[in-house]
Amino acid sequence: MKIGFIGLGNMGGGMAANLAKAGHEVHAFDLSGEALARAGEAGCHPVSDAAEAVKNMEAVVTMLPAGTHVRKVYEYEIVINANPGTLVIDCSTIDVDSARDVATMADTKGLIPVDAPVSGGIAAANGGTLTFMVGGSDEGFKRAEPILSDMGKAVIYAGGNGAGQAAKICNNMLLGASMIATCETFKMAEKLGLDLQTFYDISSKASGQNWSITSYCPVPSVGPQSPADNGYEGGFVAALMLKDLRLAMEAAQSAGAEVPMGAEAAKLYEQYVETQGHGGKDFSSIIAMLGKK
Ligand code: NAD
Repeated sequence: MKIGFIGLGNMGGGMAANLAKAGHEVHAFDLSGEALARAGEAGCHPVSDAAEAVKNMEAVVTMLPAGTHVRKVYEYEIVINANPGTLVIDCSTIDVDSARDVATMADTKGLIPVDAPVSGGIAAANGGTLTFMVGGSDEGFKRAEPILSDMGKAVIYAGGNGAGQAAKICNNMLLGASMIATCETFKMAEKLGLDLQTFYDISSKASGQNWSITSYCPVPSVGPQSPADNGYEGGFVAALMLKDLRLAMEAAQSAGAEVPMGAEAAKLYEQYVETQGHGGKDFSSIIAMLGKK
């Protein structure tokens, strides 16, 4: 299939490479020359502007930093240059309102819009093991599913346009809050004199069990391999967790949802990232800030 790919950064680079590996003709564009060159080495066709990654494609995938970038690329590149009937998939994490606005823009031009944000970090993008949460029409989902499957291990339908983004920020709000609860609990266990491996063995089989303990334990040398065993490098950075928590706070505000735990998580990540300057470390490293008096 002829697929345009715009945004070849930490995530998009690996995703575009996996589409090329699966046999697609990937016309890849990024503002960064370095990212373009890497995509070329990974089997994509680097192109010199966004329009070239859109014209005469059967599908166009975007993986951009935030809602403002996605709005700009849709307004000035995609809706102008794509043929009617083109499937347009945005995999970036953005606010629900922007996702719905760009979908309306695309729909008006006869394109088939789908929002498909991901769960999983850079390793999952490189390894083709992302989970996609998809918002769009039945036709959009049916057409997007095989393409997304070439980049991930699970593709789940969430509902109409914007539902993928809604699912993503709800999931990440829960993750942010549960990671903080996990971190502070391990700190308290330590202060109470418990051996942390022993506490892991108990809580991973008791009612406190959650993903932040059993798949991503924030304590080094406890549980399966995680960024904690690698100096908190190579995972999902705290700055992106803060970004997602802020999107969740915006969404909660506009939906009239009361989210005290999510709000507290947003406040703590803000302190960790912006006051203490640890945005580049894995989000589980917030354990260093917790548990002190
Ligand atoms: P990144 O900053 O590494 O990559 C974004 C790329 O987009 C950059 O290479 C940049 O040059 C390019 N870009 C920006 N504007 C452009 C434009 N107008 N035209 C073409 N290219 C443009 O970001 P990332 O880490 O790859 O994240 C991408 C998205 O995925 C974000 O929305 C992020 O929240 C989400 N996400 C990231 C992770 C992660 O672990 N990094 C995990 C899940 C979701």
